[in-house]
Amino acid sequence: MEKTMMKERINVKDFYPTDLFEYSSGLTEGELDVLNNMRKALEEHVYPVINDHYENAKFPYQAWNEVAKTRFMDDPKLFSGREDEMKTSELFNVFRYFELAKMDPSIATFYTVHGGLFYASLLYGGSEEQIERWASKVTSFEYSTCFGLTEPEHGSDIAGGLSTSARREGDTWVINGEKRWIGGADKADEIVIFARDEEDKQVKAFIVPGQAEGLSVENIKNKISLRMLPNGHITMKDVRVGDDRRLVNVNSFKDVSAILRTTRADISHLATGLAAGAFEAALKYVKQREQFGKKLGSFQLVQEKLAIMQANVNACLSYSVRLAQMQEEGNYIEVNSSLAKMHNALRMRETVALAREVVGGNGITLDTDVARFFTDAEAIYSYEGTHEINALIVGRHLTGKSAFI
Ligand SMILES: Cc1cc2nc3c(=O)[nH]c(=O)nc-3n(C[C@H](O)[C@H](O)[C@H](O)COP(=O)(O)OP(=O)(O)OC[C@H]3O[C@@H](n4cnc5c(N)ncnc54)[C@H](O)[C@@H]3O)c2cc1C
Repeated sequence: MEKTMMKERINVKDFYPTDLFEYSSGLTEGELDVLNNMRKALEEHVYPVINDHYENAKFPYQAWNEVAKTRFMDDPKLFSGREDEMKTSELFNVFRYFELAKMDPSIATFYTVHGGLFYASLLYGGSEEQIERWASKVTSFEYSTCFGLTEPEHGSDIAGGLSTSARREGDTWVINGEKRWIGGADKADEIVIFARDEEDKQVKAFIVPGQAEGLSVENIKNKISLRMLPNGHITMKDVRVGDDRRLVNVNSFKDVSAILRTTRADISHLATGLAAGAFEAALKYVKQREQFGKKLGSFQLVQEKLAIMQANVNACLSYSVRLAQMQEEGNYIEVNSSLAKMHNALRMRETVALAREVVGGNGITLDTDVARFFTDAEAIYSYEGTHEINALIVGRHLTGKSAFI
């Protein structure tokens, strides 16, 4: 009787068969349990509707809500033995992205604008009262949130170029400007908007309601990458928010960089998951398809490509997991996140190309999943610091010379 009641412990080697160096062995039982629930919800609710939504460039909100119900930001099991009750362990964070992106990069990106970018801005920039006001609404997914930094005329040069303005009038701030590419903006309850204070010219952050008067969102059309994800072009004309919505600890672009240091780490994990998704889809295919009377996977040239993809996934995991350890210890710096994002995005891009190659013609249809990873990789390659910008951050660290600003 007792035996049948007992839950079986998840065997981590079976759960993550492509994690050959067993980085996942450091996950707690509670964390594995939540990851298992996430995976089941992704397989049951998201997977069956992906292709339709991808073709129609629509986000599967209903399926997403089912995944959110697995409480992968706030399940009490994730905090047992942890002092910090606001954040899950960094290792769990790596595998949360791994799990989401391995299923679908648009889903993982939808999560990162909320649980990564908005939440990191709140935890870094918010006062105790502000964190108290919004944090649990974010971690429970009661609110949907996003992050507005990039502008139509300023992407890579946003630090110096940011032109959205904020003018203080008594206890109110008046915001004017435009933001571009903002994931999830069209349905967000709250958006963190970065704007330059007209008085001291410094960049500040404001939590702006998605429905604020004067704020409008138009989704970017005809995307070939992350088709399911709505990316908004936001226009703000005299949007007014109270001073209680200004994140008090964001007082210059240096603070924005500190937020990006965390979120760039998240994207390096997302790239790892995307590479694993493409690799696993390709592996499945070559084990089934026959040519010359044999499974594709039995040919030497195909096995060599599988080995490179496997090595890439392991290399990406090693960057992600070491970075997570340093984050947990609190001793990581900007170059660590930039190097991890640059490296993982490069290996991800190589992996999706190899995956597409071994799947042949079917690799350009949605039927094998590989095409989705192939096209989605392009957006991840460019956002959260392009390859060049992250390389320049590494170059600045190496030489002491800034080559881009
Ligand atoms: C799908 C998607 C989702 C996104 N989501 C968000 C979001 O939610 N919130 C948000 O705020 N932003 C978001 N972004 C914006 C993203 O961060 C920017 O696209 C990125 O910072 C690059 O800016 P850009 O596209 O304007 O390219 P540009 O800055 O115009 O760069 C174009 C090319 O020039 C290169 N380049 C630029 N400067 C230099 C230089 N000095 N030396 C060498 N090369 C250089 C770049 O590396 C790039 O290859 C998203 C973007 C995409 C594509």
